[in-house]
Amino acid sequence: MATVLDGAAIAATIKNEVAAEVKSLAAQGIRPGLAAVLVGHVPASEIYVANKVKTCGELGLYSDLITPPDTVTTEDMLDLVRSLNDRDDIDGILIQLPLPKQVDAKFLLDSVTPDKDVDGFHPVNAGKLQAGRPALAPCTPAGVIEILKRSGLPISGQNAVVVGRSDIVGKPAAMLLLNENATVTICHSKTRDLASITRQADILVAAIGRPGFITPEMVKPGATIIDVGINRITTREEVDRFFAGDAKREATFAKRGSTIVGDVHPKAFEIAGAYTPVPGGVGPLTIAMLMANTVRAAKMRRGI
Ligand code: NAP
Repeated sequence: MATVLDGAAIAATIKNEVAAEVKSLAAQGIRPGLAAVLVGHVPASEIYVANKVKTCGELGLYSDLITPPDTVTTEDMLDLVRSLNDRDDIDGILIQLPLPKQVDAKFLLDSVTPDKDVDGFHPVNAGKLQAGRPALAPCTPAGVIEILKRSGLPISGQNAVVVGRSDIVGKPAAMLLLNENATVTICHSKTRDLASITRQADILVAAIGRPGFITPEMVKPGATIIDVGINRITTREEVDRFFAGDAKREATFAKRGSTIVGDVHPKAFEIAGAYTPVPGGVGPLTIAMLMANTVRAAKMRRGI
């Protein structure tokens, strides 16, 4: 039986550690602060940001929710970021994506000062990560490493295959695994004979954005599978394809008309040694690592 890697429990432990650190910083008169910028009314973004702000409150961090209208211009957003860069009560700046079309997202993200870039998206932080220097690493990939380490799974010397090369997940995940001395292969949509590569993986990270893409024949028996994917499925056919005979999923689908599946077909988990479920695997780590990054940024900025 494969071990289920309980991301929710690991995230809860990290949040407890962050809360303890916030408390000890409070004794020095420091309260780490996060600015969350939410443009317009994208329902999913509203839920994500509400969770982030709520978690700040629970752990004792200060948060400032800023909600520009969806007609905002790049220039307005640049002014906002400049003011947040200068504010002493703000240690982390989070700009929730996606942004409206008229806003130049790359230009804007590059305007966030690297020492408040708690999402780890700034090229300076990407470069530091690549150079193996201390950096604010993107939250989801940082969470992947936490799951592996805190579950006592070895990384050093392991063959790690990352499927997906986005700047937000795939590339930084590969870099973090390399920094932990894994032998890393990065795959993407142009990779030839993907299955022959994924079958070599002791650690297989799937960050593709395609429901159930990794099938059992692509997995080495006993491998650790980290499924980063979050895909909402809404059809009977998809539910049958991924969750036939799963009463809990059937109930969710009947109630909500949808359910979530990762980038890994649930059948592939059966031959793994350990795996992160979806939901409840990598997902919960993202907010926990955002909180950890904000506290880290607060300390780094003060030379602590
Ligand atoms: P993305 O920017 O769309 O990148 C997807 C990557 O998958 C690309 O590099 C793409 O290759 C590759 N890919 C697509 N089709 C492929 C194929 N047939 N074979 C091999 N590679 C293929 O997505 P992302 O932002 O990295 O997100 C990936 C998944 O993670 C999504 O499901 C997303 O919802 C989820 N996610 C979860 C969290 C979390 O908190 N758990 C956070 C962020 C993202 P090319 O580069 O060649 O196009």
